Amino acid sequence: MFARHIKPETMYKQLMIPFVLAVVLSACGTGKEGKEDKPGGFNLFPVEKDVELGAQVAKEIESKPEDFPILDSASNVQAYKYLYGVRDKILATGLVEHKDDFRWQIRIVNDDETLNAFCTPGGYIYFYTGIIKYLENEAQLAGVMGHEMAHADLRHSTRQMTKQFGVQLLLSAILGDESALSKITGGLISLQFSRSHETEADQMSVSYLCPTHWPADGGAGFFEKIQESGSLRPPEFLSTHPSPENRIENYHRWAEEKGCGGSNENITAFQKFQSLF
Ligand SMILES: [Zn+2]
Repeated sequence: MFARHIKPETMYKQLMIPFVLAVVLSACGTGKEGKEDKPGGFNLFPVEKDVELGAQVAKEIESKPEDFPILDSASNVQAYKYLYGVRDKILATGLVEHKDDFRWQIRIVNDDETLNAFCTPGGYIYFYTGIIKYLENEAQLAGVMGHEMAHADLRHSTRQMTKQFGVQLLLSAILGDESALSKITGGLISLQFSRSHETEADQMSVSYLCPTHWPADGGAGFFEKIQESGSLRPPEFLSTHPSPENRIENYHRWAEEKGCGGSNENITAFQKFQSLF
């Protein structure tokens, strides 16, 4: 998640129970374990499991149009074309490890009140119209998208599940132990990315954007705007995320350390995109 300002609990409750069932059911019989190939912790799940999980969550989201009013891609061709254009530039950097393994599908949620974007395991990306309208230029949008894609690419969800529940508990649940299963189901409602995963996703966003024409610290723009407005920071946000101050500072520092350039061009095209909603 980029930010969790509004309605996060609802979304987690809606999604996480089917999510764990999908994991537990589909984890049966694969006989294959993930390996530690990235920072961020050991992962019990094979890469294909991320895709299966993502597809399951995407299906769940589609079945709840009252909670997730998705804008139809056939009647919003221009809007989707714009977002996919940004995605394609990130994928073209060659830095997305699971470029060909994951789906990288984008959906727009028609909800102006929610300043958020999120990405499921396996690369199903969701942008709320609220955050699209809030951002100021394409580099900021690319920064948010890079952050979300990084959560999927670094496989944070399945890593977090492995870490939170432990291999033994997950295996017991897979083998049908009811108490293990209920522990996991209960725990998943509160599953969220750790601060270090948020920081990793921010850092990867800078890496993805560095070789592009956008300023690599585009992701900082959202937090700068939040900070200027002095609003939208419930205590829960601070306890679960790195502070906006730190995130802003990190974005700028990493972009500088990596010697990234980039400039904000084509503001008109971005504003035209925003006006589509
Ligand atoms: Zn995040």
